[in-house]
Amino acid sequence: MEKRVVVAIDGPAGAGKSTIARRVAGKLGFVYIDSGAMYRAVALAALRGGADLDDAERLEQLARATRIEFEPGGARVLLDGEDVSAAIRAPEMSPAASKVSVFSGVRRALVEKQRQMGAAVSVVMEGRDIGSVVFPDAQVKIYLDADPQVRAARRVSEMEERGQALVAAEVEREIRERDRRDSTRADSPLLRAPDAVYVDTTALAADEVERVILEIVRKKAL
Ligand code: C5P
Repeated sequence: MEKRVVVAIDGPAGAGKSTIARRVAGKLGFVYIDSGAMYRAVALAALRGGADLDDAERLEQLARATRIEFEPGGARVLLDGEDVSAAIRAPEMSPAASKVSVFSGVRRALVEKQRQMGAAVSVVMEGRDIGSVVFPDAQVKIYLDADPQVRAARRVSEMEERGQALVAAEVEREIRERDRRDSTRADSPLLRAPDAVYVDTTALAADEVERVILEIVRKKAL
């Protein structure tokens, strides 16, 4: 039987996790899983259903009941069969996802789904708590980081590519606020696991980050 490998990539918003995780998964032939998209999907289901983003019980129920699927390569995210890839990327969905993610019940439901997704295949999973909580035994743990200004600028150009014009200073404020909430929540806060390799991407192009991470994976897990 082939060896099953888990590559966990954690870090704050805009550090380049999605781009890099997708590329690395493609190169290795692993399944790419964007755990943030799952918190975004729950937030979207809540907003659409008129649920209060403070209603822990209702949010947990939604997190358990909704079916969240990724198409191979992570190109599309399906919520109960509907393609919500664009809807979950609307700017207001970032703080909404961060708000629903503080609730332990929501986290438990999604962590269960994430573990199932990575149970039988090799995966590259990115998020905030993958190396610390979801897969503490992952063979490879990476913590991707970058200066907040650079992270905000990346988010602005990513949204520009999707046809959305945002103000850099506002995006930076939103990112800092989200990082603060994600790092200070009681359950599974964003943290740098002691055994994670720290990669600062501030001055690196995506190609370089990809090369560095592939090297780490080959050394540790292949
Ligand atoms: O990664 P992304 O920015 O799409 O994540 C949206 C939000 O989902 C994060 O700000 C965070 O609050 C939450 N999240 C989380 N745990 C994860 C992934 C995302 O709490 N593993």
